[in-house]
Amino acid sequence: SVFERIDQVEDKVKAFVTQTREIALAKAKEVDDKIARGEEIGPLAGIPVVIKDNMCTRGILTTCSSKMLHNFVPPYDATVVKKLADAGAVMIGKSNLDEFAMGSSTENSRFFPTRNPWDLERVPGGSSGGSAAAVAADETVYSLGSDTGGSIRQPASFCGVVGLKPTYGLVSRYGLVAFASSLDQIGPFSKDVTDAAIILNTIAGHDPCDSTSVNYNVPDYTKSLVNDVRGIKIGIPKEYFVEGIQPDVRGLIEDAIKKFESLGAVCEEMSLPHTEYALPVYYILAPAEASSNLARYDGVGYGYRDESADDIVSMYMKTRSEGFGAEVKRRIMLGTYALSSGYYDAYYLKALKVRTLIKQDFDRAFEKYDVILTPTSPSTAFKFGEKSDNPMEMYLSDICTIAVNLAGIPGISIPCGLSQGLPVGLQLIGKPLGEETLFRVAYTYE
Ligand code: GLN
Repeated sequence: SVFERIDQVEDKVKAFVTQTREIALAKAKEVDDKIARGEEIGPLAGIPVVIKDNMCTRGILTTCSSKMLHNFVPPYDATVVKKLADAGAVMIGKSNLDEFAMGSSTENSRFFPTRNPWDLERVPGGSSGGSAAAVAADETVYSLGSDTGGSIRQPASFCGVVGLKPTYGLVSRYGLVAFASSLDQIGPFSKDVTDAAIILNTIAGHDPCDSTSVNYNVPDYTKSLVNDVRGIKIGIPKEYFVEGIQPDVRGLIEDAIKKFESLGAVCEEMSLPHTEYALPVYYILAPAEASSNLARYDGVGYGYRDESADDIVSMYMKTRSEGFGAEVKRRIMLGTYALSSGYYDAYYLKALKVRTLIKQDFDRAFEKYDVILTPTSPSTAFKFGEKSDNPMEMYLSDICTIAVNLAGIPGISIPCGLSQGLPVGLQLIGKPLGEETLFRVAYTYE
């Protein structure tokens, strides 16, 4: 049925970089055969999933929507891909993204933009736009994305689906093509909170292949799906309701707060005083890490290579000039600058210190509150081209999601209504490894 649906809508939505129908049908048959033999099947057996094209899939193209990796076929699976396969999941394809996950609209894909299924003139958000759109358009049951500064939650909000960025380290990053390693985290897009909990059950857990993965006894998250928020303390940070927020978005978030109060939660305005520094800190640290991570694309080992150069240095230069798009180059230049001698202390080190202050805001808040509630994005999905000429404008669309990555804590976006026919997302932020509370609160709201 998902293939029929893909045949109907994919021409318009363009969520996929690669479809893997034959492999999927073979895998589905395997599951069927197991059932026929009366063997046990995994919790996700037979259910279609789409994987963002920055996670390695053995024998299947993994492009990061970049010319640089247009021909890259990994020899191994990312840990999440392996875990899903072991649970019986059926991968039906790889989804489009902003090149190397840098962007907020999927317009930075080197192949084509993905469209928002709610309004094809609008972006699906980004960078995991393909994964969000595929779920919203019913081309798949769920998908995986990655979130470095909002790339799961913001597209989830634009496309009216659930998107979870887990605690840093809860889900292994092994096989996720690195953008900013201290911020990147993999998580699910799903149609509801229950599915998100089931998926997290499968993908979470310690992985010896990822040295930043936490040693933690992963609970059964479906146990948190209880309809009860009585006595839960919800903090509403005033810094998230200032300039630029669309009046409808504010209105729907206020409605959600009222709903939580009527369900017995205690909602209270509070402050996260260093919020205004999150965006500048992110745009120093993320490009710094990216400039280092992306140094490996030199045309030698794998991926795109310019064949016209006569010597190795011009081969490097031509390969990187042509292989990377404008936004990726901008990040590499910003990052290299921030890390260079003479600027390192002024920018990089300073940003690290302010990152700690941002983290401490949350630590203090969680002494008092169980969760923090904000809009996921100040606006609904915008039109193509509206922000693509102005990087600063584009960067501002992650203003509500970025601090969560800097602090390494979990955040979930759930739909909370429509504004002029477009979905609005509500973000719930939890303490480190506080996914259970997030699920409970989100489930009760839903
Ligand atoms: N939009 C942000 C950026 O461009 C976040 C991207 C992400 O989370 N991968 O960096």
